[in-house]
Parts: sequence; C-alpha cells; structure tokens
Amino acid sequence: MKKALVCGGGGFIGSHLVKKLKEDGFWVRAVDIKYPEYWETFADDFIKGDLRDPNTCLAAFDLDFDETYQLAADMGGAGFIFTGENDADIMHNSALVNINILDTCVKTSQTGAIFYSSSACMYPEHNQLDPLNPNCSEDSAYPADPDSEYGWEKLFSERLFLTYSKNKGLNTCVGRYHNIFGPHGTWDGGREKAPAAICRKIAAIQGGGEIEIWGDGNQTRSFLYIDECIDATTRLIRSAFRGPVNIGSDEMISINGLVELVADISGKKVKVSHIDGPTGVRGRNSDNTLIEKKLGWRPSCNLKDGLIPTYNWINSQLTKA
Ligand code: NAD
Repeated sequence: MKKALVCGGGGFIGSHLVKKLKEDGFWVRAVDIKYPEYWETFADDFIKGDLRDPNTCLAAFDLDFDETYQLAADMGGAGFIFTGENDADIMHNSALVNINILDTCVKTSQTGAIFYSSSACMYPEHNQLDPLNPNCSEDSAYPADPDSEYGWEKLFSERLFLTYSKNKGLNTCVGRYHNIFGPHGTWDGGREKAPAAICRKIAAIQGGGEIEIWGDGNQTRSFLYIDECIDATTRLIRSAFRGPVNIGSDEMISINGLVELVADISGKKVKVSHIDGPTGVRGRNSDNTLIEKKLGWRPSCNLKDGLIPTYNWINSQLTKA
C-alpha cells in the first residue's frame, strides 16, 4: 500500500487532502500542532506535534513516504497577514518548519515526491496595481516585491524546496495556491479569508441588512474551490513537472462582486458599508497558461458552484454556535 504524509494535516487544505488520499487508497499519516477544528481526521495516524521541533519531524518521517505534502504554515487571511502585527512569527515559524522538514527528509533518505504549498502572495505588488489587469504569470515573480512578509517567506521557502532537489537529492515540487475556499475552513476568529468572512457576515444578518467590507470593494481576486485545489495538487506531485506553478482559478471577481454572489445564494438583501481595513494588492488573478500546458488541468466548476456548499456549511456552523 502506498504511503502519504500530510504536514499541516489538521488544517483546512490538509484535512481535505488527507480525506482524498484515503479515497485514493493510501495509508496516510498527518502531522499538525492541532487536530482538525470542524471534523474528525480521516488519517490512519495523526501525530499531534510542533514541526518547529526537529524531534517531531524525525518521528513524522520514520517511514519512507511515496508522497509528502508540506502545508504547515503560520498563516491567515488579510486580517492576520497584512496588519504587520504577526510578521516575525509568520516568517520565523514557517521558515523553521520548512527547514526542519527538508533536513529531516535528507536525514531519513526520503525517496518519494515532496510537494510544497507556496502562495500567490509571493508575486510582486507592482504587477497587481490595476484591479482589472493583474499579472500573475509564473515568470513575473522577479524582480521580487511581495506586499507582505508572508509572501517573502513563501518566496524564500519555495526556493529552499527547489534547492533541496538541486543539491541534496530530494524530489520536490512547488504549487502557488490562489485563495482556496470551501467547507471546513476557518470562518471566524481573525484568520478567515474573504469568501468565508463574507459568507459568515451575510449568514448572520436576519432577512437582510448591512455588512462591513474592508476597502472600496473594487479590489479583485480569484477563488479556487477546495476539491479543485486537491485535484491539481495531486496531479502535480504525480507528474514529471516540478513547478513552481499557479494552482488557482482564473475567474476574476471584485470583492463587491463576491458579496453580490453570496447575497444571491443566501436570498437576502445586503447593503455594504465600506470601512478602512487591510486589503492587500488591488488586483490578483491566477494565470493558468502554464498549468494547462504542463498538466492539462483547469478548474472544472465555477465560483458560484463552490460558494453554495461553502455558504450552507458556514450558515450551519453559525446556527450551531
Ligand atoms: P491552515 O492554517 O488551515 O493550515 C495550516 C496548518 O499548519 C494548521 O492546521 C496549523 O495548525 C499547522 N501548523 C502551523 N504551524 C505548525 C507547526 N509549527 N507545527 C505543526 N503544524 C503547524 O491553512 P490552509 O488554508 O490549509 O493552508 C495550507 C497551506 O497552503 C499553507 O502553507 C498556506 O500558506 C498555503 N496557502 C493557502 C492558501 C489558501 O487560500 N488557503 C493560499 C495560498 C497558500
């Protein structure tokens, strides 16, 4: 039986990935500092431990894995990564986890493929000033100028993963995720991302009313549904292509447009009040030219199809709370 390891397997993408790997017939180990918040893990073995500690890494890699996924990171939405208050932790904690994991892979002579989850936040701010025409093609990454320390750490770590292939005999690959969303993701507490925050705010108003949105709402983004993200990720790790490559949707929408879409799904009349807050770059969209060429992959569902189960799930969480 093939074996997979999911570092960060207690998180949003990690817990979905564990479930999919089980469905694909793998024996799966997950490692995380916490258990999944909103559902039980599907992993055969769950190590609750801190990957900043080399001993946790050694315990996690005491087997040879066919596939390793490195998703563990100190991260969150705009309210976490763009305020500046968490920058030292974000850079220190995630870099340490990545360095420990790679060193342990070398020490334990891992022969399988190793995926690293980078982020669209590593793209330069100067190419994302025009909300209607952002450039996030993979070859636009340099000269580097990410707008957050989170993005700088991702850029450093994706290079780190690729050097361990070049110099240390590992088989690493890198995907750059663009705003992944779906059920069982963080939806409150300050680390939630825009789709979850908007779903929560709209679910919370009875019949109709006003919600607050950071900035003028004209900033654009694209959002990829979780099942599509897992599909692209497993295709990448099993392919000969090593990236870095965008894993995202190219259905760009403004934040105001996203509010309208969720309002429509909820059947509520929603008014928007624009307030000051961290917004990130003015425009961002996944350029999918490279992933289509290399993996023949493109998202199969549109944004609304993914938002319906997401809204319904967040609505049910709110009712429970
Ligand atoms: P998440 O926060 O839900 O998952 C990350 C997991 O890492 C958490 O469960 C957390 O407990 C764990 N973790 C953090 N520090 C750890 C440590 N020291 N030891 C062990 N576990 C630790 O985030 P996610 O949305 O599932 O994202 C997964 C990966 O994808 C992250 O690396 C993130 O930066 C990247 N990414 C996500 C998105 C997105 O839209 N969700 C976009 C771009 C990149």
